[in-house]
Amino acid sequence: MRTELFHPEIELSVVVPFYNEEESVTPLIEKLYPVLEQTGSRFEIIAVDDGSQDETVPRLCLAKQRFPEVRVIKFRKNFGQTQAMQAGIDHAKGKIIITMDGDLQNDPTDIPLFIEKIQAGYDIVCGWRHKRKDKLISRKIPSRIANWLIGKITGVSIKDNGCSLKAYSAKVIQSVSLYSDMHRFIPAMASLAGTDVTEIKVKHHARQFGVSKYGISRTYKVLVDLMTIKMILSFSSHPLLFFGFSTLFFMVLGGMFFIAAFSSYFSQQGFDFMMASSGVLFYVLGLFLLSIGILSELVIKTGSFRSLSSVKMRVE
Ligand code: UDP
Ligand code: MG
Repeated sequence: MRTELFHPEIELSVVVPFYNEEESVTPLIEKLYPVLEQTGSRFEIIAVDDGSQDETVPRLCLAKQRFPEVRVIKFRKNFGQTQAMQAGIDHAKGKIIITMDGDLQNDPTDIPLFIEKIQAGYDIVCGWRHKRKDKLISRKIPSRIANWLIGKITGVSIKDNGCSLKAYSAKVIQSVSLYSDMHRFIPAMASLAGTDVTEIKVKHHARQFGVSKYGISRTYKVLVDLMTIKMILSFSSHPLLFFGFSTLFFMVLGGMFFIAAFSSYFSQQGFDFMMASSGVLFYVLGLFLLSIGILSELVIKTGSFRSLSSVKMRVE
């Protein structure tokens, strides 16, 4: 639970998740620090350790001793990159929040341009790794397909949804709750909610140390998340419209079975219990679907999409 939304002194928060990145911790912070210092803003670096088993935590603690602007959040176990980002964002005190990877693949020298864009009034600035240094088959091709699909489904075309280097206005990102691998869909969803999103080209480096934490299986997870997004978008305004139709169908069917059962009673053939109980069954099924529809309506109205749509207006 957040107790305070904005800290008056800190303008910029940089959130970096680390999972078994022992060799990258010190060089990253050493590269990041002068860039942030040169911006002239008061800043903090929020390093989130996502349950690393290597020397990541001791190295983060050393960095904290050297640089007082470093804050460390430690997860008890590995919860995943999105959760780590969410924790960092929740604890960020700045009005501008920058997210980036902890493996030196993103370049800190790109950050000033992100800040400029946010200061120019954009709510979200996405990095576009136009010369991406990753494997073609397991990374670049699935990522192209995913970006194309996200564009088709949401109607918002963003070239590189998966790039972690992004900048957000804290007001926007702190009103969204992230789960699964959903961080990659934020720009598209936020843009649908009326926020101003832009993209800038960023540098990208091949991984120098350690190994990537993902395999091709991530593609499957992204697809499942995409289906969830599709559901959210299709039913977000009125899930009852969808459930209402099936409710009506089963209730009418139940009614017809009832009428058939009673007409057999009046036509001297005796009351058809099978027919009547099928009628009850269909009717109850209709009621059941209706309650799911009402529940979905409630979930949508109080869930993450609702909170996202709360950013569609700017109250100054
Ligand atoms: N990461 C994390 N938790 C995880 C997986 C990854 O915090 O469960 C971090 C990781 O340490 C890195 C960033 O997320 O800083 C991106 O991960 P990775 O480099 O493995 O992804 P890739 O660049 O291969 O897509
Ligand atoms: Mg990486």
